[in-house]
Amino acid sequence: MKHKAENTLRAAIVATARTMREQGLSPGCSGNVSARTTSGFLITPSGLSYAVMEPADIVALSPDGAVAPANRTPSSEWRFHRDIYRTRADVAAIVHTHSMHATVLACAHRPIPAFHYMVAMAGGRDIPLAPYATFGSDQLSGYVVGALTRRDACLLANHGMVAVADTLTRALDLAGGVETLAEMYCKVLALGTAPVLDDAEMDVVLAKFKTYGQSPPTTR
Ligand code: 13P
Ligand code: ZN
Repeated sequence: MKHKAENTLRAAIVATARTMREQGLSPGCSGNVSARTTSGFLITPSGLSYAVMEPADIVALSPDGAVAPANRTPSSEWRFHRDIYRTRADVAAIVHTHSMHATVLACAHRPIPAFHYMVAMAGGRDIPLAPYATFGSDQLSGYVVGALTRRDACLLANHGMVAVADTLTRALDLAGGVETLAEMYCKVLALGTAPVLDDAEMDVVLAKFKTYGQSPPTTR
């Protein structure tokens, strides 16, 4: 039974990674996808084309990040995936991308403020920027965990973006949503200044988001 559930999750990770690529969110082999399991987490292998990736290529890690022999090499970013699962009990899926506009803002060290009320989709009044650290490093993991303390998405300076959720579908949807907001913000900035909603208004929006849409939420 456990194996059937794990195989289903492996296939879902591959499907999510392929969709991420097809949506143009992960140029080349960039980005990675993971999902929590009862015995740790599953993650995409490092540097393997999404076009050829199969469920058997997905790497199983223990909660502390140990990889069983005969697995492929896991994503170089396994540390921040491990540390997000350690610190966020509500998170069961993580999508990391180098999508164009989120990465442009990240390279300009510009977090996304409340220029549009939909920044609330990431759970707060803005989409923060984690400071730069080398990819795959413990330092980067610490910065990402810090930025995700009260948010479900953040930009990574000089690098890209991370989105987290309770399901793979919702994590990918959030990554796509952040990319769309990033594109809008780049275009608003190109026109001149970007007026920002104040904290009081964003708090109203965040409260409304709690009951917005279908209740109970549709399961996908
Ligand atoms: P991996 O292929 O090792 O996951 O690396 C991609 C990436 O985006 C590193 O930050
Ligand atoms: Zn990356």
